[in-house]
Amino acid sequence: MAYSIDLSGRVAFVTGASSGLGAQFARTLARAGAAVVLASRRVDRLKDLRAEIEGEGGDAHVIELDVTDHDSIKSAVAHAETEVGSIDILVNNAGVGTTQRLQDVAPDDFDYMFNTNVKGAFFVAQEVGKRMLARARGAAPGTYTGGRIINVSSLLGLRALPKVGVYAMSKAAVVQMTKAMALEWGRFDINVNAICPGYIDTEINHHQWKTEQGQKLVQELPRKRVGKPQDLDSLIVMLCANESHFINGAVISADDGFGV
Ligand code: NAD
Repeated sequence: MAYSIDLSGRVAFVTGASSGLGAQFARTLARAGAAVVLASRRVDRLKDLRAEIEGEGGDAHVIELDVTDHDSIKSAVAHAETEVGSIDILVNNAGVGTTQRLQDVAPDDFDYMFNTNVKGAFFVAQEVGKRMLARARGAAPGTYTGGRIINVSSLLGLRALPKVGVYAMSKAAVVQMTKAMALEWGRFDINVNAICPGYIDTEINHHQWKTEQGQKLVQELPRKRVGKPQDLDSLIVMLCANESHFINGAVISADDGFGV
């Protein structure tokens, strides 16, 4: 007999689903049976992904979202719940990165990073979390099936490397945000965990791997390899499963051992 995780009947809201990890999280959760809401700014790409997921027999919906715009967050979450159903799973994935020496960071560069990676992630989780809390409080004892929030931090939320200092600071805030939410919301059966991926080849860093500096970085990685978005499939499904109700406030590295 094989072990399997079934997310049928669950609604998963994935931010930054138009590319990279977010797109792959959405594919994977749909394959596990969840109805997925693809939320991001690039709606054309989301529509292509929806067609791909539907082509595999999955259930996907497209909603425009800019996590730096509070009205956009509120309306995207409301729209998702009206169109698809109560959000059971949030994959709080949208993020941006830049490479800069600390002495070159201008206030606008700082705001760009923190407005998306910290403020955006916080208010998306807050908007979804408020609705999960209301459902948990309104449910008859023992009947709320539980919420799952997965915040996408980074290996760089746990360790610093040159030229990514402000990004690392923003991702460290996501780690602490995760613990604070897990602490306050855990007793309402809302589990909040963070994942800290190592280097994975996506749009955020693709340009880097062809450069001399990028190649040098690969040589410093434990197994001299950059990951693929699919390398996080099992982790995301595991954290979203009802069976993971005992995992709360965890900060899980998936970095091929680079953070050790
Ligand atoms: P990516 O650039 O392919 O994806 C980022 C996604 O976020 C894109 O879909 C983008 O459109 C979306 N986004 C950015 N700003 C947004 C906004 N204001 N509103 C809505 N959506 C917005 O890169 P990725 O690697 O897939 O990144 C996904 C997450 O994983 C990010 O939070 C990133 O920091 C994190 N991460 C990536 C790596 C890696 O090596 N690729 C490692 C650790 C953490």
